[in-house]
Amino acid sequence: MRFAKLAAVPVGLVLVMGISACGSSTKTVDQSASGAATVPANALIGVTMPTKSSERWIHDGDNVKSSLEKLGYQVDLQYAENDIPTQVNQIENQITKGAKLLIVASIDGTAITTQLQQAADKKIPVIAYDRLIRNTPNVDYYTTFDNFKVGVQQATSLLVGLGLKKEDGSDGDAKGPFNIELFAGSPDDNNATFFFNGAMETLKPYIDAGTLVVKSGQTDFKTVAILRWDPATAQKRMEDLITKSYSGDTLVDGVLSPYDGLSIGILSALKSSGYGTAGQPYPVVTGQDAEVASVKSIVADEQYATIYKDTRELAAVTVKMADAVLKGTKPEVNNTEDYDNGNKVVPSYLLDPVVVYKDNYKKILIDSGYYTEDQLR
Ligand code: BGC
Repeated sequence: MRFAKLAAVPVGLVLVMGISACGSSTKTVDQSASGAATVPANALIGVTMPTKSSERWIHDGDNVKSSLEKLGYQVDLQYAENDIPTQVNQIENQITKGAKLLIVASIDGTAITTQLQQAADKKIPVIAYDRLIRNTPNVDYYTTFDNFKVGVQQATSLLVGLGLKKEDGSDGDAKGPFNIELFAGSPDDNNATFFFNGAMETLKPYIDAGTLVVKSGQTDFKTVAILRWDPATAQKRMEDLITKSYSGDTLVDGVLSPYDGLSIGILSALKSSGYGTAGQPYPVVTGQDAEVASVKSIVADEQYATIYKDTRELAAVTVKMADAVLKGTKPEVNNTEDYDNGNKVVPSYLLDPVVVYKDNYKKILIDSGYYTEDQLR
């Protein structure tokens, strides 16, 4: 591994590196335990997140930063508002500033290969955060949730909402057929494909049997994907779908939405078309991230479900991994098979996502301390 070389640098040299990288600091991480030489205890770590327009990334950034700082590291945390050149510049700046490790939640998983080569040339290890960085050998580890499972859970929540399944996994009483429409995330985000594949594997038998009918006929990933996960684009697509495929008595019964922001846009389109009344209730709309607006929407019987991914845990495993890498020890991974980035299989640590319904949100989100009751009022 690239940083193994760094770990083998003699102690004296590490001290010198420590001084030059951080001005006055000569403190180094204790090397006695692992026997490996390391970077300074207060080394700079570059953290890049895609956008502040979605709550989850704000939580991710805050949690990663504060946990790294607790360990004594300095942190440069940047958000790029979903603009690729901005993220490219931020990573370049972090390399220039002397970052000793990069944690990157990419906007476009294929757009930062040049910057990661620069990092590799300087032996700076890289951890892909939540989103896989593709087509480069220069990504060392990946921390995320089981993204395929997220898709399976999204589709399952759709089936539960339609009455085709029960929350315990057994078959429901409904028979269908039901009209559904499909949405996927941003095509440049590797996760979007995983979510969609997981969802489609679950829905396909029902579509093949005619129990679920995609009235628009739009079922392939490219057609249903929403660039940059943009809620307004999803709202517009839902409006178009309603105009083209639904009129009179033909109603949409379910919408597979891969992210709460899109779900809110989709629900707005539905509302303007007359859904959300006693006579014409909202279809079953899924989601992801358990964002406050969507949890409130679930409680108000608008959105049906979401997927909770505890960003506190993701931050914790990532920070633990970063610390291990910088100390020259081997970080823990639990998946070395599923995340081929087009160049290599990236060793990954996957966390478990959880489905949130109206009947379990208190237990999952409030009892765990993720939200307070007040935040969801
Ligand atoms: C994340 C999701 C999030 C989406 C939009 C994905 O990469 O895994 O949690 O909903 O991006 O921000």
